[in-house]
Amino acid sequence: MNDQQAPPAAERQALIDLAAVRHNVRHLVHLVSPARVMAVVKADAYGHGAEQMARTALEAGASWLGVAHISEALALRGAGVSAPLLAWLHTVDSPFAEAVAANVDLGLSGWELERVVEAARELQIPARVHLKIDTGLGRNGCPPDQWEAFVGRALAYQEEGLLRVVGIFSHFSVADEPDRPETDEQLERFRTAVAVAEDAGVDHEVRHIANTPAALSRPDSHFDMVRVGLGLYGLSPFPGQAPAELGLRPAMTLKTSIANCKEVPAGQGVSYGLRYSTSEPTTLALVPLGYADGVPRVGTGGPVWVDGTVYPVVGRIAMDQMVIDLKTTGIAGTGKDLVGREAVLFGGVGMPSVDEWADAAGSINYEIITRISSRVERKYTDSEAATA
Ligand SMILES: *Cc1c(COP(=O)(O)O)cnc(C)c1O
Repeated sequence: MNDQQAPPAAERQALIDLAAVRHNVRHLVHLVSPARVMAVVKADAYGHGAEQMARTALEAGASWLGVAHISEALALRGAGVSAPLLAWLHTVDSPFAEAVAANVDLGLSGWELERVVEAARELQIPARVHLKIDTGLGRNGCPPDQWEAFVGRALAYQEEGLLRVVGIFSHFSVADEPDRPETDEQLERFRTAVAVAEDAGVDHEVRHIANTPAALSRPDSHFDMVRVGLGLYGLSPFPGQAPAELGLRPAMTLKTSIANCKEVPAGQGVSYGLRYSTSEPTTLALVPLGYADGVPRVGTGGPVWVDGTVYPVVGRIAMDQMVIDLKTTGIAGTGKDLVGREAVLFGGVGMPSVDEWADAAGSINYEIITRISSRVERKYTDSEAATA
């Protein structure tokens, strides 16, 4: 290898701007203060890289980390991340003992309590647990009518020195639709559950229920901590409201370069199923990203930025590639050779947005970023460092 050569550019990359993440974290920390921010870095930090995002969020003022699976928490501990860290979704096969040994806090809804206590007893290390109340979402969490008994069981184990009830928490169901009344109902049930626990003798450190939409729109839901995922990555949880309106900056840019470009006559069919056909002589450009890279197959019509122009994808999105028709914008000259030109599916200011891809695919921005596959290289940049 020649030392003088710059490393080859990634052919397909998700470029993540650490400065944008720091900005988002600082913004959220400021917004919810004195409540603390738990940076939710589950699912590889929504596709952004869990370890990098955990470190960046902590550096910018987040004080806790949250993940769904214990395995995700153990990976962070293995990477040397020592901040308070909560995992909340378990199965009978979850490595509870490893979690307790690694000082990972565990969110518990019911049956897990005895498993965790068993692990703590064996290790002679008290487990750190957060008790979850189902205030209306109907997924995990203890039903309200069993809450008092659940709290009582946990407190009995706490007296034995087998655990410490660190937190009480819940999760919203419709916080992204601020006009709906259910959020108020959930808050009311949460306050009641906290009061029941406190009356029983729970001396918690943190009460938490807010996700990104609640952190942004419901100050009365912040309690001691908010659990923020989407907002860290600079996306909006509210349909029709852009990140900039919320003071957020999208962190990820998904890009590649045009792999082929050719002139075709009218009537040229495009991609599997020939669902698109050119209406006049035009130029087709090939974008080498497809559903194996995490671009939804149903996302035909999604935007691709090339050379200052945004083109909709035409025809079916295939496993590895998709096509844009330069005539669809009405400004493409034939004979244009775009091979090698940067093609951006979504990014920051001036680029198409994750939300446009979500709309094209009938999905939400969360799903688009989370599903970018391992075939796309993650790269990190720091726009503040570059311009400092
Ligand atoms: C994923 C998740 C969050 C983060 O939600 P965002 O809307 O991305 O902020 C918070 N709490 C729980 C329990 C979650 O599963």
